[in-house]
Order: sequence, then structure tokens, then C-alpha cells
Amino acid sequence: MSNEIKTQVVVLGAGPGGYSAAFRAADLGLDVVMIERYSTLGGVCLNVGCIPSKALLHLAKHIEDSKHMGDHGVTFGEPKIDLDKIRAHKEKVVGQLTGGLDQMAKMRKVKVVTGKGEFTGANEIKVSGDEETTIKFEHAIIAAGSQPVELPFIPHDDERVWDSTSALELPFIPKKMLLLGGGIIGLEMGMVYSALGAKLDVVEFMDQLIPAADKDLAKVFTKEIKPKFDNIMLETKVTKVEAKKDGIHVTFEGKNAPDKPVKYDAVLVAVGRTPNGNKIGADKAGVEVDDKGFIKTDNQLRTSADNIFAIGDIIGQPMLAHKATHEGHVAAENIAGKKHFFEPKVIPSIAYTDPEVCWAGVTEKEAKEQGIKYEAVTFPWSASGRAIASDSTSGFTKLIFDKENDRLIGGAVVGSHGGELMGEICLAIEMGSDAEDIALTVHAHPTLHESVGLAAEMYEGSITDLP
Ligand code: FAD
Repeated sequence: MSNEIKTQVVVLGAGPGGYSAAFRAADLGLDVVMIERYSTLGGVCLNVGCIPSKALLHLAKHIEDSKHMGDHGVTFGEPKIDLDKIRAHKEKVVGQLTGGLDQMAKMRKVKVVTGKGEFTGANEIKVSGDEETTIKFEHAIIAAGSQPVELPFIPHDDERVWDSTSALELPFIPKKMLLLGGGIIGLEMGMVYSALGAKLDVVEFMDQLIPAADKDLAKVFTKEIKPKFDNIMLETKVTKVEAKKDGIHVTFEGKNAPDKPVKYDAVLVAVGRTPNGNKIGADKAGVEVDDKGFIKTDNQLRTSADNIFAIGDIIGQPMLAHKATHEGHVAAENIAGKKHFFEPKVIPSIAYTDPEVCWAGVTEKEAKEQGIKYEAVTFPWSASGRAIASDSTSGFTKLIFDKENDRLIGGAVVGSHGGELMGEICLAIEMGSDAEDIALTVHAHPTLHESVGLAAEMYEGSITDLP
């Protein structure tokens, strides 16, 4: 059976970008249809990304924390792991949020069409699902996201070779597991499996874990997590992965490569994500896609086709849910006739590992590359009452100021729950705050965010005399 729907706005993809765009467009009075190939809304983030990983990391933190309480006079027994219950808990968290999205779509009268959408013209998308639907639209917002990168020499079809999606399904707890890639997604999942009892190795091509973060953050992070790993292989690459009956045999090459192949019970491949730009018939709508599969947009998020916008992972880095959400709003507002731009000063990045590794704005590495005259001040958590009381003394809070005008241009935190401090740092950068603004703000004691104020006080220009 074939249906035809006419709408003012069609949104392709129901991840954080897509649903935010659809809801904002509906709130602005537009008639909206949202297409999603899966039966639940929420995209990668809610179903197989941000949310299930955080539900599992929450459990992992409790398991790990309980191990250290003996020193403080409280001893817990060995944790009993019930994988079925853990899976059910994770599904419940996901279901609560995706179910909420269904309700919100209904409340706003956003029509959801389930199936795979492909452009067939500048004003038409065909959706193949249980039935075929042709959608004629005035404007479209492409929010079709990304998927894990697969490497040609890896047997991805073996059930012991995982990507982030299969790792989140918790198929079993491997005795020995390799994280292939030392970035945020791999390390977050590594923390979960380590807490559940797996022994870990990690291999990373670059010379530090979480390569996008400044070296000082990575150094503290690596020292803290070292006990969870048998081997952290930096500046090393994988050259061969063989699925055999007794395990996955991996061959390494580089600075820290073992001299013979190592056998693993599971290998998590987390080497990045690739955009879905080449899979949606973009060319038929006159939408330009680059050779990597990213869709090009201007700062109003308009593609090369005047009536079509694109947002989220499919338009480029950083591939983060909060970037997609904000872009979704801007695209919808422009379609509704407003003149809005996506030009944030900062988009925070957070690894929700323990310790968390977080940064926003200009990193020290970037400041050096760009020749910015900057000063970085660092407040060690070993001097924070809250951090000492919470066993988090290895962390620090770093603020990066522009020496020309004393304004905050970047900030970073490593430490347990450090991500919660990024809100203040981002707001300060967006508002153009200087060191004095932050130093004079009264922070509650004892909190971790107090370290932001204390770091600002360490900056030379933070206390100025009145004229
Ligand atoms: P997506 O969420 O990828 O949604 C795109 C949707 O489009 C999908 O539902 C897809 O099914 C649908 N779609 C694609 N093609 C079609 C088609 N042809 N027809 C119909 N539907 C289609 N980000 C954070 O900010 N914080 C985190 O903590 C975080 N943790 C993560 C953990 C993991 C394990 C992973 C994998 C990612 C994580 N991310 C995190 C990244 C985050 O999930 C993405 O940046 C975000 O989901 C991107 O949103 P999006 O709307 O662009 O696309």
C-alpha cells in the first residue's frame, strides 16, 4: 500500500537533533512529519549511546566506590552481578525516555512515520516501512546521524567483536577484553566491563588516551585508571584480527606492541563514527555531501539546497547530542522565518569515565597552535575540602585566560563528577566573563565547583583596584 502525505516540514531521523528540530518547528506553528527507521524515537543517544552508557556507568561507579570503602571503616562484600537484571534496568531507563518522546510528539501533533527515508526529489521523500509513504514537503531537516566506523581487516560479523551498540547489549562478561581505540566511547564502555569483572587492554594509535584532551588531563586520567588495565598500548596499532575458536587473536605493531599476537574473549572496536550522508539519496534533492559523507551547511544550517537544512552528527564534529539539539532548534527557527545562527563559542566535551575528563572552549594545545597569548591556571583538587572528603584528590580544575583582556577562553576539569563543573565554565566563556567576574562570584563551600572560583583567583589579573 502507498500513502501520500503533504507537510510544511519533514525531519529525517529522530535522534536528539531530529526530535529537537521537530518539536521546535511544531511549537512555532508548523505542520511537521518526523521519519525514523527504528520503532523507538531518540536515535543513537537515547537508544544505544549517551543514556544506556550512563545508566551502566552509574552502576560501575557504585561497584568501584564500594571497593575502597574498607579503608574508611565500611566493608562491602563481593558484588553479585546479575546481567539479566542489569540489562533490564538499562532498558527501563531507555524506555522511560523514549516513551516520553512519543508523548511529546503526540502532544505537539508531530506525525511520526516509521521506515527508511530516501529523498526522491527536492520536495519529496519516499519512506519504505511496513507500507510505502511518499512525503511531499516544503522544507526538510536532515538529522540522519552517524554509525560506528568498521575497519576492513576486522571480522565485524563475529559475535565476540563488538561495536558500542553490541557492547551496550552486555552479551557476556569477557575474562579478557581489548578496547581498540582509546577515545571517549571505548573508555566509557571499558569502565563498565572492568567494574563487571573484565580484565582490559587498550590500544591507541596516538601518544595519549582521549587524544582530543590536553596532555595534563590525560596524564591524571591514565594514572588513575591504570589499575584496571593489564596493558595500555599507546602509539601502537592493530594490524590483524583473527576470529578463532578459542578467542580473537590480535596482532599489534608500534612502540608498545607485544611481540606476539594476544588472545581476547572480546574486542570492542571504538575507532570513531562515520556520517550517514551518502545513504539518504541526498543528491536527488540537490544536497551536497563531501567525500567523507558529511553534509555541508552554512551557519544557519542550510544545505546547498535552499529549502533543506541539516543538523547533528551528519554535518560534522563534534559528534555530540547537545550540539545536535541546539542545531535542531536553529534549523527549525530559520524555517519558521526567524534569522538565527549556530555560532556557539563553546561546545563542551565530557568523558563520563571515573575520573571524568572534560573540556570546553580553547584547549592549551589549540591556544599554542593559534598563537594566542594565554595563561593557564590550575587549582588542584588535593586542596579542595569537598574533593578530599569524597576521595577525589587527584583531579584538577584548569582555566585558560586570554592575556590581552583577561577573559576566560577555555576550561578543563579532570576528576570524579567533573562534568558538572562545565556548566559554569561554558556560561562564563559565552558571557565573555573575565577572571575577576569568576573570582568575585561567591561559590558554595564545600563544593567541587568552588575550584572554578579558586582557580580564577590564582590568575594574576583577577583582582583589580577600583579607579
Ligand atoms: P542520531 O542520534 O544518530 O539519530 C539519527 C537517527 O536517524 C537515528 O535514529 C537513525 O535510525 C535515523 N535514521 C538514519 N537514517 C535514516 C533513514 N534513512 N530513514 C529513517 N531514519 C534514519 N553524545 C553526548 O553528547 N554525550 C554522551 O554522553 C554521548 N555518549 C555516547 C555514547 C555512545 C556509546 C555513543 C555511540 C554515542 C554517544 N554520544 C554522546 C553521541 C551522541 O549519541 C550523538 O552525537 C547524537 O546521538 C547525534 O544525534 P543526531 O540527532 O545527529 O543523530
